[in-house]
Amino acid sequence: MVHCPECETTLAEADDIEFSEMDATTGFLAASKRFYTANCAACGATIGSGVAGAKAGGGGAV
Ligand SMILES: [Zn+2]
Repeated sequence: MVHCPECETTLAEADDIEFSEMDATTGFLAASKRFYTANCAACGATIGSGVAGAKAGGGGAV
């Protein structure tokens, strides 16, 4: 269970969290990885972030 540190909304559903995924275009990260942030759907605060694992073969599991 995750609680938003800003508005203390309980983020229990996937819909409560907005994932912003962005391509690694800065050269800061390997091109095969994708950086994402998890944002509170209620107030927009960034809850967490990380790097999604490299996707072999272009993924396909959504
Ligand atoms: Zn929030």
